Amino acid sequence: MTHADTPIGRFAPTPSGRMHLGNVFAALIAWLSVRSRGGGLILRMEDLDTQRTSTEFAEILRQDLTWLGLDWDHETAPQSQRSAVYDRYFARLEQLGLLYPCYCTRSTLHSVNAPHLSDGTYVYPGTCRNLTEAEKSAFGRDPAWRVKVPDRDYQLTDLCQGPFRQNLSADCGDFVVRRADGVYVYQLAVTVDDSEAGVTEVVRGVDLLGSAPRQMYLQELFGFLQPQYGHVPLLVAPDGRRLSKRDRDLDLGALRLHKKPEEIIGALAHSSGLLPHYEPLSARELATVFSWDNLKKENIQLQINL
Ligand code: GLU
Repeated sequence: MTHADTPIGRFAPTPSGRMHLGNVFAALIAWLSVRSRGGGLILRMEDLDTQRTSTEFAEILRQDLTWLGLDWDHETAPQSQRSAVYDRYFARLEQLGLLYPCYCTRSTLHSVNAPHLSDGTYVYPGTCRNLTEAEKSAFGRDPAWRVKVPDRDYQLTDLCQGPFRQNLSADCGDFVVRRADGVYVYQLAVTVDDSEAGVTEVVRGVDLLGSAPRQMYLQELFGFLQPQYGHVPLLVAPDGRRLSKRDRDLDLGALRLHKKPEEIIGALAHSSGLLPHYEPLSARELATVFSWDNLKKENIQLQINL
């Protein structure tokens, strides 16, 4: 099942540092896609990892988005405040008989020589699926909780990447929904939050394409509608490396010192195929010519020196 009416998109940043150009690009496309069709946008802080995130970074993110001219209609509660909601969905998975405790540690998982997904997740071989009660209590510590996945292909047609399919059992394996310290994981939180906020369109970096089938599976179990997905290319440094929060010279802290938002948007639009020539322009101006058809699929190297 998919949605029909006015699109509702979202920004879902992790407030763990300043936005770099890759984050700006994903936010820009999310904004353009819905605003060019008169759609709405929500903002949500993904701060499940309370060690790495802060309300100060969240506030800087809001200011940076506003400076770029990327507006949103309302902000929903940050994930760190929603564990009671996630508890309810966790209980539903339990009722469905799909959860089991997992005592594997990072090092036992990494010693299994399994292929891994683009987000660094190892295909889980099901080590803890059938532990006896005695085996469980012998561990003497709190477990993480995994959801059993079916041997089934999940398919989607991505707005940017086109057709994509993944067999959850072969390509991913049973995945963790709650960590041993009680913190819910991204896959569960993002699925619940997007659906509860009425999001119909999820636009984000292509590094998360491999997560979409896990989220589609949870949507199916919870009876949610499936959003349209658009996974945009990553920005790479001139030497081909993917940009990260370590590239301080291309984060907004540095760029805002000597660039205008129109220059950043123009450079991203030209480098990604949205504009044939470089010209500084606002997000609102770019929305009048935006089309998913013009957007490159492959990693993007900046064509303009910023
Ligand atoms: N919070 C993630 C990030 O900042 C994005 C997750 C998503 O868009 O689903 O990279």
